[in-house]
Amino acid sequence: MLNNELWIDSFIVGALAMRCSVVTDLKTGDTVIIDGGSETDRIISWIEDFSGQGPDWSKGPSSFESMKSSGLSKRKVIALVNTHAHFDHSGEIPYLLDRYHVSWYLHPEDDYLQSLAQISGQRWGFSLPTPAIADKQLEDNMTLNLGSLTFEIYHTPGHTLGGCCIEVKVEDGPNHLFAGDTLFAGSVGRTDLPHSGGDFNLLAKSVITKLWPLDLDTVVHPGHGPLTDIGVEKSTNPFVGVNSPIYVEFHKS
Ligand SMILES: [Zn+2]
Ligand SMILES: [Zn+2]
Repeated sequence: MLNNELWIDSFIVGALAMRCSVVTDLKTGDTVIIDGGSETDRIISWIEDFSGQGPDWSKGPSSFESMKSSGLSKRKVIALVNTHAHFDHSGEIPYLLDRYHVSWYLHPEDDYLQSLAQISGQRWGFSLPTPAIADKQLEDNMTLNLGSLTFEIYHTPGHTLGGCCIEVKVEDGPNHLFAGDTLFAGSVGRTDLPHSGGDFNLLAKSVITKLWPLDLDTVVHPGHGPLTDIGVEKSTNPFVGVNSPIYVEFHKS
């Protein structure tokens, strides 16, 4: 199923400037929060009544008045989904669960990392609640239907064991990919973080086999840094693009 009238807000939150994406179907108000790990007060204020600082990037109405004229009376948060379990992406999930009482989706291979979110945050000087436990599991190649929204899930290990990229297909425009820390504009996520199972060769394999086949105009929303698209990264990314040593090596074998 394709998503017609998609509204996407992204919030760059927390000391690590992590991207939280809020995806809404304008027709139904059904809303999913991807990586709601930091500054949840700010995210909740904007979702519920357009108050506060608002998003850093938006595909939708920018004011309460234009929101009303868009026909959307009230967004309903129906699920939380995470690309992976590093604490900046997941540390404040308990606050969102307290507020919305919805399911939280995470790949099970990140469950151990998730159990360390509070301790990892403390190491960076952040005070975080007792880590949330995901009640729903993401799987490779699953189609995730959440209310009127549909997501394709790609398990892309390498930055973490359970890292996933989340695609939303759009009928009348480019698709959108929420890439977590697997793929950045001109870079990729670190593979040396503790307890994460990072592995650069595995990350490269994930990107080459799961992401490069996607439509070239797919908008990529990375976990950190600016938006990009699959075509640009496939042709120019120095770490995993078609001219990178590992891509050339991968296609020899
Ligand atoms: Zn990460
Ligand atoms: Zn991150």
